[in-house]
Amino acid sequence: MPDTAPPPADAQHALADRLAQVEERIAAACERAGRSRSEITVVAVSKMFSLDVIRAAQAEGLTRFGENRARELRDKAGDLPGAFEGGDVAWHMVGHLQRNKAKFVARHADFFQALDSPRLADELDKRAAKNDRRLPCLVQVNITGAEQKYGLAPDALHAFLDELATREHLSVKGLMAMASYTDDEGKVRGQFRRMKELFDTYDAGENPRVEMDILSLGMSGDFEIAIEEGATMLRLGSALFGPRPYDD
Ligand SMILES: *Cc1c(COP(=O)(O)O)cnc(C)c1O
Repeated sequence: MPDTAPPPADAQHALADRLAQVEERIAAACERAGRSRSEITVVAVSKMFSLDVIRAAQAEGLTRFGENRARELRDKAGDLPGAFEGGDVAWHMVGHLQRNKAKFVARHADFFQALDSPRLADELDKRAAKNDRRLPCLVQVNITGAEQKYGLAPDALHAFLDELATREHLSVKGLMAMASYTDDEGKVRGQFRRMKELFDTYDAGENPRVEMDILSLGMSGDFEIAIEEGATMLRLGSALFGPRPYDD
């Protein structure tokens, strides 16, 4: 895990300010879309930030934290346990997971947002069984085509969801996607709209492992569009914490 940034002396205050601004923007987007704030869950993406920063966020009422590296999640959950380990935060693994690190997620994460292959599903299912649990997951869809490496092709999604019916230790709660990284609002909106359609058209009726409850779409640069297009979960990093000390 890389060195994480120490919180500046006024970190608490700055965080409270950014959170208040984000909440105003969420409220305005909900208003425009005729939606209720209570439909939206915020995951604070804390990757690369220290536990001090995360504790400051907790003091502001944030309870769900997102990480994109399995070892970093494991280390942080060691000090600040998630709900699965008896704590009062929830750790969301939001990034691509290699199979050899599935054990960390099955052991320490409360939620896995990047399920995108049958082999990973097998490994997580096996590891979750060892931890005597059912791991809540979102299936990641690649909505940008060649721009992104990870996520399932939209055309393969429904068949993949059907196939998950046999993974007894996974519990799929919905879908996750990242839009193109672009200023082209129309493009991003179109991608989110496609996700909402994939979300709405899956019939989970006979699939005991799948419920379509959560649509995790927005990030700091596009969360208002995501709300307008039906997202129920936002993954917000820099909008809450400021620029990351190191980036991918
Ligand atoms: C880093 C990350 C985020 C948060 O990014 P911001 O632009 O800082 O809000 C959201 N989702 C995933 C999958 C990420 O890796």
